[in-house]
Amino acid sequence: MESENRPLRAHFIPYSTTSHLMPQVDMAMIFAARGVDVTIITTYYNSLLFQKSIDKAITRGHRINVHKLKFPFREIGLPEGLENFSDATSGEICSKIGKGISMLQQPIEQFIRDNRPDFIVADMFHFWSSDLASDLGIPRLTSHGMGHLALCAEDCLLRYEPHKTVLSDKEPFLLPGLPGQIQMTRSEIAEWIKVPDAFAGLMNMINESIEKSYGVLVNSFYELEKDYADYYRDVLGMKSWSIGSVRLFNARNDSRNDEKHDCQTWLDSQNPNSVVYVSFGSVCSFSSAQISEIAKALDSMNHPFIWVVRNEDKENEDGEWLPRELEEKITKSNKGLIIKGWAPQLSILEHPAVGGFLTHCGWNSVLETIAAGVPMATWPLGADQFYNEKLTQVLGVGVKVGLESWTHLLEESRSYVEKEKIEKAVNELMGGGEEAEMRRKKVKELCVIAKAAVTEGGSSYSNVTTLLDEIRQCR
Ligand code: UDP
Repeated sequence: MESENRPLRAHFIPYSTTSHLMPQVDMAMIFAARGVDVTIITTYYNSLLFQKSIDKAITRGHRINVHKLKFPFREIGLPEGLENFSDATSGEICSKIGKGISMLQQPIEQFIRDNRPDFIVADMFHFWSSDLASDLGIPRLTSHGMGHLALCAEDCLLRYEPHKTVLSDKEPFLLPGLPGQIQMTRSEIAEWIKVPDAFAGLMNMINESIEKSYGVLVNSFYELEKDYADYYRDVLGMKSWSIGSVRLFNARNDSRNDEKHDCQTWLDSQNPNSVVYVSFGSVCSFSSAQISEIAKALDSMNHPFIWVVRNEDKENEDGEWLPRELEEKITKSNKGLIIKGWAPQLSILEHPAVGGFLTHCGWNSVLETIAAGVPMATWPLGADQFYNEKLTQVLGVGVKVGLESWTHLLEESRSYVEKEKIEKAVNELMGGGEEAEMRRKKVKELCVIAKAAVTEGGSSYSNVTTLLDEIRQCR
């Protein structure tokens, strides 16, 4: 019989999209730092995104292993290396990646059966892992890309269908029972909730598997969403642990922050709190008309900016993704930096020159900006982002840009926000009025609480302790 004192063994199965993958790797590193013997099961090219951080953790004596699977590129007709949804440029590529991921279920299951851990942490999309875990008699924890408010709001919409009580897409309705008197409109809700489709079927399976699982790990901290964490547990009867912000646990040791990006030097030359950071996450896609409108707004305002653009391969009718003259003007004036591709978001947000973030409200971005004490102008596009915008309103740390149209993440955003609306929100965000000051004060307070949550004795730190104690009892 194995010793009861040996370290717990856990297998982590992240999903192949950056905003799910990276937080789960952070979670794995948190558990490894607490003495758990951790294995991350992923594909080779995804592992390159975080291998350096793991190597660093190993040199600190943490037991952490990466089990790399080969993605079936050839079988599904994708070029070598294209295995992450964040690199997909079309719906067709996304569905091929999805197919490749489903082909990995069998080898992952086999590996777990051959190397039985004490518990599994699997992304919500690996819904099959609940049955596997129960077969092996071990707990499966679900790693969710969503916060507690979002989880509660989605449950409320599915359970009570309050959107069916209104007559138009723009008429507001309350989310019944939820703390904070949260209002939504039908146009802010995901299509699959309004008209059940294949994705709704998948979400159904996911929700069933979450209910069968041991509980949910939420990348959030209790104080941030206290009412919704309590509602999730007490009213919905779900078990969850807020253990975030998971980035904060690891930020200091993270190799992703090692290399100095050019934008750091530029930021060093700017005044404190003067720069607006503009980024819409790792997946979203804008039309070239919308990109031009953002460019015009940034050009016409008096705030220095860093703008991250993903669509650099997209062209408008003139053959350009962004009017060349405008780009040249911006670059020459040194008023702003345009980063085409990937930006070091964490270091940017933490730079003292940054005073505001124009964001699509991806959950990671919301957590990262709160943890950096930077207020937001909010421009949600799809996924859970409208719920996250509600949280920024409840907390009083965001200005709404005012978009009300949910788009599927894999489609080009249907949003078209005029230059004037963008300017208004950003000016309010960066301005000096009473409300702007209040937003800054509130987000700075939350930043202090966020940092305390992950230090020894803090709420997230203690939740990890409690969870590990419980799992040891299950063993
Ligand atoms: N991110 C980054 N650089 C970029 C774009 C995104 O570091 O240029 C990171 C960002 O810090 C966050 C994640 O990618 O951790 C995006 O996740 P989020 O939930 O905000 O949005 P999503 O990508 O899911 O839409």
